[in-house]
Amino acid sequence: MAEYTEKQVAVVTGASRGIGRAVALELAAKGIFVIINYNGSADRAEKVKKEIEENGGCAEALQWNVADYKACEQAVRDIVKKYGKINILVNNAGITKDGLLMGMSREDFDSVVDVNLGGTFNMLRFVSRQMLRQKSGRIVNMASVVGIAGNAGQANYAASKAGVIGLTKTAARELASRGITVNAVAPGFIETEMTQILPDSVKEASAAQIPLGHFGKPENVAKTVAFLVSEDASYITGQVVQVDGGMVI
Ligand code: NAP
Repeated sequence: MAEYTEKQVAVVTGASRGIGRAVALELAAKGIFVIINYNGSADRAEKVKKEIEENGGCAEALQWNVADYKACEQAVRDIVKKYGKINILVNNAGITKDGLLMGMSREDFDSVVDVNLGGTFNMLRFVSRQMLRQKSGRIVNMASVVGIAGNAGQANYAASKAGVIGLTKTAARELASRGITVNAVAPGFIETEMTQILPDSVKEASAAQIPLGHFGKPENVAKTVAFLVSEDASYITGQVVQVDGGMVI
């Protein structure tokens, strides 16, 4: 217990791989205790925990589905009971189920919105209650440039990420008076499993639209998140920070 009582406690959803993993590693390297949330990838979440510990940090891997309202309530309750506080929340968990609007099933629309937007709402709902008691906190929600500019083939995903931006701005207004900041990060194309599945032709066409000429790395996003949850960013709230190589200007 002693090893984390003096540390800040961060919850990073979807931290078993990709951007969430990079955020977990970055925050842990800054001396923050990290709860690595995952849904299905237990082995990979444990690997992230091990990596953090090998680098001298501390972390715990915890399974819950962010789309499950009751599971989020229980997880937040358990974390607060065990660690006494939540200083930082990074709502990163997300999925895609791409397809053109006219062929998209209602199930594919709902499931993407349920995880990306519903999951962000669920975690905000319960973690903000704890942060309000603490009268402090830092929240970063993972949006996407697609939520700003739209993208053919991603009606469900773009709608969910536009929703995350609206939710971020509203939460920022509601929570500011209690010293809680809420911002969003909107990545462009980042090299993770989410973008690995794209056909080479789509990857090439996408890279051609990026002024900096290439996809970003998860670490580029993680550094931005680390800044937004730091003391240096204490006067920034309700903002959407794009990490997209200039893709949407
Ligand atoms: P990724 O590699 O596919 O990883 C997704 C993560 O989310 C995994 O850790 C996964 O955990 C977790 N997750 C999925 N559904 C979950 C659920 N219901 N409950 C809890 N965890 C869940 O994705 P990524 O590329 O790192 O993306 C991370 C975030 O950045 C997402 O919100 C995504 O929309 C956003 N983003 C990514 C890009 C990009 O180019 N990669 C661009 C813009 C925005 P399990 O494996 O355990 O299920």
